[in-house]
Amino acid sequence: MRTAIYPGSFDPLTNGHLDVIQRAVKLFDRVIVAVAKNDGKQPLFTLDERFALVKKAVKHLPNVEADAFDGLLVEYVVSRKAQAIVRGLRAVSDFEFEFQLALMNRKLNENVETIFMMPKETYTFLSSRLVKEIARLGGDVGAFVPAHVQNALAKKFAGTKRS
Ligand code: ADP
Repeated sequence: MRTAIYPGSFDPLTNGHLDVIQRAVKLFDRVIVAVAKNDGKQPLFTLDERFALVKKAVKHLPNVEADAFDGLLVEYVVSRKAQAIVRGLRAVSDFEFEFQLALMNRKLNENVETIFMMPKETYTFLSSRLVKEIARLGGDVGAFVPAHVQNALAKKFAGTKRS
């Protein structure tokens, strides 16, 4: 059983993340989308909210499950009996950080491989940060996130100043 962990903040999950998940599941028997607690990042959505949004988004995908984790990623990978970490690469700008992260994780556990997947070109410009910014300013994010994420964003920003 080949299992991959796709870790991230998913604050919130976007269609770019979903694209990576759908590609990864073609290579593995099981993909676990693991929402990181990430206190340092001051997320817009709580861990529970981010997890619930991911869970709903992958419900219809066979062999994909959602989970949440805290602490060291390589330890989580071992605890889930997984062999690999999947990360998405959008542009050169992602590379430096992802490269560093992958090599550090290898240093911590050399049995865990990191695999990079590139999304469909249309999603290469997409990030949770931009989606939040557009939603905050009242823009339409319907093309970038699933409908339930769009609703959650609308709720979060309801009543906030849009200028
Ligand atoms: P993190 O805070 O760990 O970077 P993110 O939720 O921002 O978490 O991203 C998780 C992973 O998904 C990262 O590897 C990131 O590069 C990748 N990713 C994010 N958005 C996209 C996208 N539009 N296309 C492909 N990969 C993406």
